[in-house]
Amino acid sequence: MKRIRVGVIGGGASGMMAAITAAHRGAEVTILEGGERVGKKLLSTGNGKCNLGNLEMSEQYFYGSTPEWLRSALERFPTEETVRFFGKLGMLVKNKGGYLYPASEQASTVLDVLRQEVKALGIRVVTAYKVNEIAPSQNGGQIRVSDGKTNYSFDRVILACGGKAAPKTGSDGSGYRLARRLGHKIVPTVPALVQLKCREDYLKAVAGVRCVGEVKALYEGNCVAGERGEIQFTEYGISGIPVFQLSRTVNYILEEQQEVDVILDLFPDYDEEAYRQLQADRAHLKTGRTVEEFFTGLLNKKLMMLFVKLSGLKQQEQAERADEKALSAVYHLCRHWELHVNGHKSYDNAQVCAGGVDTAEVTAEMESKIVPKVYFAGELLDVDGRCGGYNLHWAWCSGYLAGCAAAEEK
Ligand SMILES: Cc1cc2nc3c(=O)[nH]c(=O)nc-3n(C[C@H](O)[C@H](O)[C@H](O)COP(=O)(O)OP(=O)(O)OC[C@H]3O[C@@H](n4cnc5c(N)ncnc54)[C@H](O)[C@@H]3O)c2cc1C
Repeated sequence: MKRIRVGVIGGGASGMMAAITAAHRGAEVTILEGGERVGKKLLSTGNGKCNLGNLEMSEQYFYGSTPEWLRSALERFPTEETVRFFGKLGMLVKNKGGYLYPASEQASTVLDVLRQEVKALGIRVVTAYKVNEIAPSQNGGQIRVSDGKTNYSFDRVILACGGKAAPKTGSDGSGYRLARRLGHKIVPTVPALVQLKCREDYLKAVAGVRCVGEVKALYEGNCVAGERGEIQFTEYGISGIPVFQLSRTVNYILEEQQEVDVILDLFPDYDEEAYRQLQADRAHLKTGRTVEEFFTGLLNKKLMMLFVKLSGLKQQEQAERADEKALSAVYHLCRHWELHVNGHKSYDNAQVCAGGVDTAEVTAEMESKIVPKVYFAGELLDVDGRCGGYNLHWAWCSGYLAGCAAAEEK
């Protein structure tokens, strides 16, 4: 019987998973990769350790236009499937508090076992081949792709070009152009899991400081996103996991307006009463101490001294004689520090790209509803996940489903 010929455009996480899955099902597979080698981005994931999945898995950890569609996909490829898949490839998976990593804690291991399987299955890999044309043949029997010089024809094509995040790894947004050319709608994209820039110049004084707290983003006075964790202060603004997590929400608002207010609470474990009590318990420390000394012991010193300055106090004045309202203002700032986000770091710094191919136009099997025999996988689709292994899970899950369907006899 003639084997189905599947072309996979993009040799990233989702493309390699799709290629391997299709080959396991008997297809003759070719990966067309724009870069010099496959899987470049994988090497930088999880700070070089590759957080490849998470034990907590459901659609609530993802964003996208069609949650039901997403749920159905995740149900068909749960986390256990990732562990089983890599187990079959010979790689042990380590669980660190629910976050999954290769046992070696080396992202290169993930790429190694994928490449070994690609080789063992006889999948053809064409590198330095950047697809810039895609179209169904006139009779609709084949899908043609081209880099402008060499043409290929396949029975099925899986588009797995990634989004726009970290373009140095190859994902430069060209997948969106190819999808658009096929007639697909692209949900507007913004960088996600990325650092945020703030209007407040004085943040320079606390650059390098890290502090556990809660960050809330406000839109028209309402809290639209809130995250807890270690916030990092930088020359230009704020960073850290909680900031990354809410960046996609903030960045979509920034598309509409110039600034987004965020409120930082650096005492998130205290309720109002406990915080009042803390202040009352410390009141006696005013005696014989300067303002600087009085506020010692609460938070990172640079942060406290910034709040002292912002409240109009002098570090060296006697706390007993200091203005009561200003002292209260310092305590207030610790819990209600308002910053104005007026930008974000670019796609170069983003871990992921929000937006993409509208999933309403894609079947549960990842096939285009517009051009049959074309499939999608990975970040190219309008699905992005939170930090914690969710984006790679999506790459494995969607790659697997696309690979299964593309290799299936119709
Ligand atoms: C620094 C960093 C750290 C990260 N850490 C984690 C983590 O620990 N856990 C996690 O879950 N996620 C992490 N992510 C996100 C995760 O890596 C991505 O979501 C995932 O790799 C997306 O896979 P993909 O296959 O869709 O796209 P990509 O991995 O981007 O692969 C797309 C491939 O397609 C190729 N390509 C693009 N256009 C064309 C074209 N026209 N023709 C031919 N080839 C083309 C590209 O060269 C590339 O090789 C991280 C991302 C970054 C940038």
